[in-house]
Amino acid sequence: MPDIIQLLPDHVANQIAAGEVVQRPASVVKELLENAIDADATAIKLIVKDAGKTLIQVIDDGKGMSATDARLSFERHATSKIRSAEDLFGLHTKGFRGEALASIAAIAHVELKTKLETEELGTQIEIEGSDVKAQDVVVTPKGTSIAVKHLFFNIPARRNFLKSNNVELRHIIDEFQRVALAHPDIVFTMHHNDSETFNLPKSNYRQRVVNIFGSKTNEKLVPVEEETEVLKISGFVGKPEFARKTKTEQFFFVNNRFIKSPYLNHAIKSAFEGLIKEGSHPSYFLNLTVDPKTIDINIHPTKTEIKFDDEHTLYAILRASVKHSLGQFNIAPVLDFNRDNNLDTPYSYKEKTASNPTVEVDRAFNPFQNDHKPSEKRAVTSTSYRKSPTTDWESLYVGLESKANQKVQSFSEVQLESEPEQEALFNHNKDAQGLQSTYQFQNKYIISTIKSGMLIINQNRAHQRILYEGLLKHTTIKEAISQQLLFPLQLQFSSTDIALLNQLKEDLEHTGFVFAKFEDEQIEITGVPVNVPESEVSIILEQLISDVEQEVPDSNFSATDLLAKSLSKSLAVKAGQSLTFEEQEHMVNSLFACKEPSVSPTNKATFITMTVDDFDKKFI
Ligand code: ADP
Ligand code: MG
Repeated sequence: MPDIIQLLPDHVANQIAAGEVVQRPASVVKELLENAIDADATAIKLIVKDAGKTLIQVIDDGKGMSATDARLSFERHATSKIRSAEDLFGLHTKGFRGEALASIAAIAHVELKTKLETEELGTQIEIEGSDVKAQDVVVTPKGTSIAVKHLFFNIPARRNFLKSNNVELRHIIDEFQRVALAHPDIVFTMHHNDSETFNLPKSNYRQRVVNIFGSKTNEKLVPVEEETEVLKISGFVGKPEFARKTKTEQFFFVNNRFIKSPYLNHAIKSAFEGLIKEGSHPSYFLNLTVDPKTIDINIHPTKTEIKFDDEHTLYAILRASVKHSLGQFNIAPVLDFNRDNNLDTPYSYKEKTASNPTVEVDRAFNPFQNDHKPSEKRAVTSTSYRKSPTTDWESLYVGLESKANQKVQSFSEVQLESEPEQEALFNHNKDAQGLQSTYQFQNKYIISTIKSGMLIINQNRAHQRILYEGLLKHTTIKEAISQQLLFPLQLQFSSTDIALLNQLKEDLEHTGFVFAKFEDEQIEITGVPVNVPESEVSIILEQLISDVEQEVPDSNFSATDLLAKSLSKSLAVKAGQSLTFEEQEHMVNSLFACKEPSVSPTNKATFITMTVDDFDKKFI
């Protein structure tokens, strides 16, 4: 048998290697920006067209390349950054594999222009799919410009695999922000389709964070500084009350390189324990500096995961420093000029002397007096007011309709959300004929009888379904009812969040939102859908942003559908909410008036049935 193994031609090998390094336009952005930083640029410009599908160009004012280097830079394993394997453990540059340019040139049209400071003229090279098409001498400023066009032109499968422009642009912005955050001393600008997306002047770290995430961010930041033998930490965490539904504001940089580390993320999360709600994520922008010898960056093609020699120690130091900072911030405002004025004593209170707290006792109160009516004050403020279990049990047997209904109502008026409640076995209600038609069980399920047995409805999912169909109807027939706000509501978001909301603006309007302004970092709302409480608007929009981000929608995603799902999730009654009889009945009727009553918008069962047979079997 003849020998059959052959070495792959270079351009094929490059194409294969490219698959690892270049997954999408954002990967190209990352590699080019990192090269510019390694070239000691002081200003870097990123130009993107059609979310990188048509053009990605990075222009820097760095040291540039000689004609020979320019040609060599496109060869695989051609790098100026390391010479030997030992160098891998003392890295001070972003790149070191010498793979990026070769990979990019294998799957795109690339035009490079570069000039050394000391030279009069520069070099221009054009490459298409690893083929050098032209090399010329050009007049060009000091530094390097690399334009990447028609990405994946020779791999249609990869091109088709790309997501919608919105999604790809989101990834590009993510990479841009990561690099820009790690280097506040470099000027960065970004243009997309001829409009300027970011313009970040040279600044300190705090200003860089604020320039990227919006001016409102400033008041959210708590500084974290720590220096030990093995680790130096500097940066910020977000105050607990600003914790977000999304994980978009979580950044670790190790020696100025953005990295992902679930383990270290956990350290931060545990430092925030007890300070933020379940399901919320703390913001952090933390720079860790360690000895390059103690980390291995060469474990992942995109270099975003690294291996630490002593992860456990880093975890402990990180957790302790963040806790310490949060503690300081809680007890006394941090002594810096950016401190939060809100923490100061209001001026009008400064001169006032504190009065001693007094305890007020209702001396007339007799807990054993049966017909005792709680005084108005107690009814509102007391946390010890309980629905009397005795009366409840009585009513379970006696079934005095009017009394029962009355009680449910008056109780719901004084009920506090956090108040533990002594529930009767069932919250039971009567229909007009005095027959029991629905029960609420555990403040979670509505139980209703049907001819063939029993229906157990999950109140949260059922309500989601009802709201979802209602929202879809309103958005499609465009006739939502809006409630005018007395005072316009101003909400701050980062410019990327605003861009995201902008895509959904029309749909939001169809649900009843009225926007007076839609600016760079702020929106002004003058009307909201009827069922949306004003106090929740901000949470609802945040949830929406988070849902859109997490969905990573593909090109055929429907903004309307996503919006309806997200809003119905935010607005639906939750488990734990007690419902009046009328509410229960309304819920059941509305659910069965839906087109698809049996599943929630996310395809989970809204109810189950238990037939008489099912019961009979249990009693055999
Ligand atoms: P790596 O960054 O891993 O060395 P690349 O393929 O990204 O590999 O780049 C190859 C080489 O080309 C780099 O080592 C560097 O010498 C040179 N180079 C790339 N981009 C630039 C740039 N913007 N300015 C100056 N030199 C560059
Ligand atoms: Mg590189």
